[in-house]
Amino acid sequence: MKITPLFVALFCAAPLFAQTEPEKPAAPLASASPPPNVHDASKPADKIPPPATSPAEGASSAQAQSQVEAEKNAPPLDKNNFDESIKPSDDFFSYANGGWLKRNPIPPDQSRWGSFNVLIEKNNDALHDVAEKAVQTATTQKADPETQKVADYYASGMDEAAVNSAKAEPLAEEMKRIDAIKDRQGVLSEIARLHRMGVTSLFGFTSGQDDKNSTMVISQAYQAGLGLPDRDYYTKTDDASKKIRDQYVDHVTKMLTLAGADAAKAKAAAGKIMAMETELAKASRTKVELRDPQKNYNKMKKDGLQKLTPDFKWADYFKEINLADAGDINVGQPDFFKGANKVFTATSIDDWKDYFRWHLVHAGAGELSQEFVDEDFAFYGKVLTGAQELKPRWKRVIASTDSSLGEALGKLYVADYFPPQAKARADELVGNVRGAMADAIQSNSWMDDKTKQAALKKLTAITVKIGYPDKWRDYSKLDINRSSYFANSMRASLFEVDRQLKKIGKPVDRSEWGMTPPTVNAYYNPNLNEIVFPAGILQPPFFFANGDDAVNYGGIGAVIAHEITHGFDDQGRQYDEVGNLREWWTGESAKKYKERADKIVKQYSEYEPLPGLHINGELTEGENLADDGGVKIAFRALQKALANKPQEKIDGFTPEQRFFLGWAQVWRANIRDESLKLRLVTDPHSPAKFRCNGPLSNTPEFQKAFNLPDGCPMVRPPDKRVSIW
Ligand SMILES: [Zn+2]
Repeated sequence: MKITPLFVALFCAAPLFAQTEPEKPAAPLASASPPPNVHDASKPADKIPPPATSPAEGASSAQAQSQVEAEKNAPPLDKNNFDESIKPSDDFFSYANGGWLKRNPIPPDQSRWGSFNVLIEKNNDALHDVAEKAVQTATTQKADPETQKVADYYASGMDEAAVNSAKAEPLAEEMKRIDAIKDRQGVLSEIARLHRMGVTSLFGFTSGQDDKNSTMVISQAYQAGLGLPDRDYYTKTDDASKKIRDQYVDHVTKMLTLAGADAAKAKAAAGKIMAMETELAKASRTKVELRDPQKNYNKMKKDGLQKLTPDFKWADYFKEINLADAGDINVGQPDFFKGANKVFTATSIDDWKDYFRWHLVHAGAGELSQEFVDEDFAFYGKVLTGAQELKPRWKRVIASTDSSLGEALGKLYVADYFPPQAKARADELVGNVRGAMADAIQSNSWMDDKTKQAALKKLTAITVKIGYPDKWRDYSKLDINRSSYFANSMRASLFEVDRQLKKIGKPVDRSEWGMTPPTVNAYYNPNLNEIVFPAGILQPPFFFANGDDAVNYGGIGAVIAHEITHGFDDQGRQYDEVGNLREWWTGESAKKYKERADKIVKQYSEYEPLPGLHINGELTEGENLADDGGVKIAFRALQKALANKPQEKIDGFTPEQRFFLGWAQVWRANIRDESLKLRLVTDPHSPAKFRCNGPLSNTPEFQKAFNLPDGCPMVRPPDKRVSIW
């Protein structure tokens, strides 16, 4: 299931289908993901570029493998990764990474390839070992519950013969239910049924913290129901967008055919589905509009929601999802629900059935037989991200296991792969970065005293989670066995949705994690005012356990600072120290902040990663602010750490230079044009090169460290520089 939390993460490593975030595997059955205003600390949802199959294991993964091996023993900074034909003053990203970029073409099963992909592959290898070991253990002795569940889930997924011979059979029962729908009441029941399985349908419904009373979890209703990655895919009129829409209709046709429909009927059905989704897309807010938490906060009772959608009987819907009392409901996008009501009534029962069949087969494709996996990859992998080959089966099964049983797999992973000393060093870094942020708040010239005091209070209140949860999730009521991979993933989705819905009306559990331990990512959650660093990211090139301070502050230090400054970016600053959406800035300080932040929108809107395609400076504002603040705050923290130590050069570089080189190497990545295009529409993060160079060009200490001339491309003129922290 792919519920996306509001929290802001460091990367959006997978193509976010409808969302933000990490290299998180496709949840098996799911496409529902709330817009950013829904803060749900569950799985950071994404549909990863679909599954791969076993024969692909050869070329692609062997290539990835050798790169992973090479990275394992690499020194913190390696001059072989540089391209010294490029001047640091022209393009620091390419200067620091050009050698690496040339030596590391994108493997066929990937849509981009950079430092964090290498780390993800390293973690995949570890998880592969963990899962294989679990199978061994469970075969030879009575295993503990986590080992048993991981073993059974993984084994069911690796039983390729069984999965392939089942063909569309795992869908049969659900398809029968859809075939039997007779009236609009049946349509409503099926919408609820699909929601319980984590499958998107018409709209989204889950639980999340109340933005204005962050101690409580309330109902959250939000726009959803699309099969393409964003509403813009339905509304844009350029040729490339039209072509993708045609390819989508072809894909829906093929999937319906595989699921048993007659080809001509499937084609007609796909056209109708496209028309329905287009109506929903038109009623949906843009990603930029979804960034405004005030606009997306519309708390009401059931009666209020009922007025927006007079023909949809919410009482019946709540009964179907086993929700006794919906209580307060935040309706993220009221106009969307008005549009959804129209689609609900204007669509014929037969068209509804096709829409349900499509979303069901789409959500379950990864756990079905090869034909489904291949067709899913042909569109969501090849067309949308440019990937050329499926990932090998074991990687897809690991991703699915992480999605379904992330804290069971994660518990086994950290026991073998997360050294306790990594946590201690990370704790120390967090302390120093927090200290540097406090300095930046106290010493800046634009905030007034009252706002400074409130900001310091918020900074002090930020809680920190490192490595893995103190309290592991209890999967004892989830039945996992070796008889059906698809059934396992479906039960895991039902279990997760039910777990989310059960939180409604209850106090928030502050101990929960929104990412699994092996995840190579980090996040800030404004409702909990917390920063979270899973074990997976506390490794090179972010974190060198034995590396010098400079490189570590440029890597993980800047990541920590990035997350902390999210608490003060244009969105995060609207939440107070206990996570409530509340104005705590004086009008004057807020105005000065906004003037400064507006500059970053202009700066990034000028960047043109592909001919004619610019970065959306508004969509990426929060992340760009966090990158800009992150590098500056981490640099301050380094200065403090070095204050009483001799400043030695290492490999010919001063600590300051090593800091900025450490920052640059975190962002090294090659990316396919298709994937870049997708991200320019959906990803709130800027492309890697601009994440590296944008902040540096605003940073006087960077200019000084490399002795760069005024007026060069890597030094923005003082009046255009973003200067907040
Ligand atoms: Zn971020």
